Amino acid sequence: MDKFSDQVAVITGGANGIGKTLAQALSKAGARVVIGDVNDELGEGLCSEIRAAGGKARYRHTDVSDSRSVSALVTEALSDEGRIDFMFNNAGIAIAADSRDLSLDHWRKVTDVNYWGVVYGSKFAFDVMAEQGHGHIVNIASLAGLIPFPTNLPYSATKHAVVGLSMSLRAEGADLGVKVSVVCPGFIDSNIFQASEMVNIPRTDVVESIPFKLVETEVAAANILNGVARNKAIIVFPTYAKIFWWLYRFQHSLTNSFALKTIRDMRKMRGKVPPN
Ligand code: NAD
Repeated sequence: MDKFSDQVAVITGGANGIGKTLAQALSKAGARVVIGDVNDELGEGLCSEIRAAGGKARYRHTDVSDSRSVSALVTEALSDEGRIDFMFNNAGIAIAADSRDLSLDHWRKVTDVNYWGVVYGSKFAFDVMAEQGHGHIVNIASLAGLIPFPTNLPYSATKHAVVGLSMSLRAEGADLGVKVSVVCPGFIDSNIFQASEMVNIPRTDVVESIPFKLVETEVAAANILNGVARNKAIIVFPTYAKIFWWLYRFQHSLTNSFALKTIRDMRKMRGKVPPN
C-alpha cells in the first residue's frame, strides 16, 4: 500500500495481537514503525524481526494508563523520526464477568487502559499533528463500542467512549489537517481471550461460547489499513458486525435477544470456578 510508504506510524499495544499484525503489515508497506507496549520481550523481539526483514522499527516500553509514559512515546517518536504520520491507539484489555462480580477496581483497571490510554494517545498525537498540519489518529474501539455487550460492561462502556471521543476529534481535526478514524471490529483471533481477566467464570467455557468465527489478525489488519487509507470515519467488520450495528441503529430492540442470550449463557457458567 503506497499510502504507508516511508510514513511514521506509532502503535500502542503493538507487541501482540492486532497491534503486532498492524506493525508487520505497515512495515511491509514501507512504514517506519514505533511500538509502545508493556510486554518488552515481545515488543523488542518483534522489532528485531521487522529489522531483520529489512524494515524499520523501534520499541519503547509504554504503559498507556500512565500519561507520562504515552507522552514520552510520542515525544521520542517525534524527535527520532522527525514527524508522526499515524498514531494507532490500539492497546486494550477486557474483564469478563457478570456485573455483580465486578469491583470498582475492575472498572478502574479497564478504564485506565481503554479510555485514559486512548485519551492520552489522542491528545499528545493530536497536538503534534495539528502543529505539523497533517496526521491520522486511528483509535481501536470495538463492535462493543457501538452496541451493548453484557458480560463485559467496563469494556463496552470504555469502547463507546472511544467512539464518541474519536468522532468529535475528527470534526475538530478537519480544518487542521488531522484525520481521525475509529475501528469497531467483531471478534478477532488475538491473545485477548487469554490475557483477559475472567471473574467467577471459567475461561475455556467463555472462549467456547463465542458465537462467531474469529477473524484472523492478518485479515483484521488488512481491513483496518484499507479503511484508514480511505479515511473512513468508522471502520466496522466483519459482515455480522455491520449487520448488528445497522440493526441497533434502526431499532435497538432488534438486538435485545442477542444481548439476553449472551448474559444468560454466561450466567450458566457463573460460579463454576473460584474467582481468578
Ligand atoms: P491482545 O491482548 O492480543 O494485545 C493487546 C496488546 O496490548 C498486548 O501486546 C499487550 O501487552 C498490550 N497492552 C495491554 N495493556 C497495556 C498497557 N497498559 N499499555 C501498553 N500496552 C498494553 O489484544 P488485541 O485483541 O490485539 O487487542 C487490541 C485492540 O483491539 C484492543 O483495544 C481491543 O480492545 C481491540 N479489539 C479486540 C477484539 C478481539 O476480539 N480481539 C475485538 C475488537 C476490538
